[in-house]
Amino acid sequence: MSTLLIQTPEGLYCPAAGVHIDPLRPVARAVITHAHSDHARPGHGAVLATRETLDIMALRLGAGFAGTTQPLAYGEALTLDGIHLRLVPAGHVLGSAQVVIEAPGERAVVSGDYKRQEDPTCAPFELVPCDTFVTEATFGLPVFRHPPIAGELARLLASMALFPERTHLVGAYSLGKAQRLIAELRRCGYDRTIYLHGALEKVTAYYISRGVALGPVAPVGPRGKDLAGELVICPPGDLAGRWARRFADPVTAVASGWMRVRARARQRGVSLPLIVSDHVDWPDLCRTVTETGASTVWVTHGAEEALCHWCETVGRNAQPLHMIGYGEEEADSSPAQD
Ligand SMILES: [Zn+2]
Ligand SMILES: [Zn+2]
Repeated sequence: MSTLLIQTPEGLYCPAAGVHIDPLRPVARAVITHAHSDHARPGHGAVLATRETLDIMALRLGAGFAGTTQPLAYGEALTLDGIHLRLVPAGHVLGSAQVVIEAPGERAVVSGDYKRQEDPTCAPFELVPCDTFVTEATFGLPVFRHPPIAGELARLLASMALFPERTHLVGAYSLGKAQRLIAELRRCGYDRTIYLHGALEKVTAYYISRGVALGPVAPVGPRGKDLAGELVICPPGDLAGRWARRFADPVTAVASGWMRVRARARQRGVSLPLIVSDHVDWPDLCRTVTETGASTVWVTHGAEEALCHWCETVGRNAQPLHMIGYGEEEADSSPAQD
């Protein structure tokens, strides 16, 4: 049991501090873990988040997305009505944070979305021991094991070498995944210009402005057939539409944890599935629960039942929260959409 957090129709709430975390409906005071649209909704009175999360929310939602905003740096402590609150890195996307809430004798951590795999575009996940751990379970089934990203990108680069006359079109979420792919491709030695769909331009420019090294990138703009042999990144939803028809016999790839499911890649007409995820996979999920030492685990969304069952088998109290509304940033490849 947690005395620090309760579940309300608006989402997770800390009554003692008077704040909701990643609320699903407009509230007076919100703490936002990261800028993905399912967690960072407009219309709250006051929003507390990292500088990066606030900036990206303003880019995507407009400057008036909340009544007032307050940036809180990683590790900086804030006291609200006797409750200590701080943000620590979640390793999910630039600016993503776990929310640590503390009262004498009790600590709760709300992870938001997170991963343990290395990511050169954001601060690494920081483990915080706690009594209550609130976790996602997007990939909370033993079948989900994300391979090292270098191997996935090696397959992409091999395909580019094999088909030098074709455009390689990679579907990736516009916040986080696209920039991580670019940064990791540079680590693999790919130094040519990478072309971006318009939906990726603002966030990518923001990453660069925050000092994330991405090398040469350029908008696709009106180009098409002349990008034969080049690499283009777009939102997954644009792979199959009118926009994609401008390219020379494109090879379509999708970078997603869901690409572990072969049937899904086939069904979507993806010729090059790349298993790249910004969420924890099953082994990392279990490892993280264990490492926090939490006696109580709350699971917000995803494969809640499987994770809760596993938690019970290792002697922890676990509760699925069945929170409707999270996971929609990833809607393009979620099971509900197929
Ligand atoms: Zn997210
Ligand atoms: Zn999410």
